[in-house]
Amino acid sequence: LTAQPVSLSDVVDTTLTLLKHRLESYNVTVTVDRVRPLPPINADPDQLKEALVNLVLNACEAMIEGGEILIREEVGVLDPHGRILAVRVSDSGPGVPQALVENIFQPFFTTKGEGSGLGLPIVKRIVEEHGGWITVQSPEGKGTTFTMVFPYEGERE
Ligand code: ADP
Ligand code: MG
Repeated sequence: LTAQPVSLSDVVDTTLTLLKHRLESYNVTVTVDRVRPLPPINADPDQLKEALVNLVLNACEAMIEGGEILIREEVGVLDPHGRILAVRVSDSGPGVPQALVENIFQPFFTTKGEGSGLGLPIVKRIVEEHGGWITVQSPEGKGTTFTMVFPYEGERE
């Protein structure tokens, strides 16, 4: 992990630039919900990019006929963790069946013909190496939201 001060907002922007053509070919539009750029954390920007690429491509692959991705950036306080930064990736796809939710972070678990099943385990490892964690919400028929949460120890604003 080569850590340096990096804003997750920059990671979001570079990742979307990187995936621009892919998103077009999937017929997927992305909206970023950002009040102002997130403050820097000590992180490995390439690893964070890799994590976000995986979440965005999974969302694309879930939306067979295209759709919408919403990326929401948040600053918050979460007891007992203190201050946190969160990046949420929501899609308008079919969701994860309730019975499978507990399996999707397992290495090699895939529901795709050609899937590796390694995307989410990698995302989870990267987030945890940064002291954070990942959650998934997939209420039936309402798409899927993956949330990457990072502890934030920066200056109080
Ligand atoms: P892969 O993409 O190779 O299948 P992943 O680890 O990235 O492996 O994802 C594991 C599984 O989790 C997928 O096969 C799919 O069933 C489920 N999944 C991941 N992201 C989504 C999503 N956004 N919507 C619905 N299902 C998803
Ligand atoms: Mg994947």
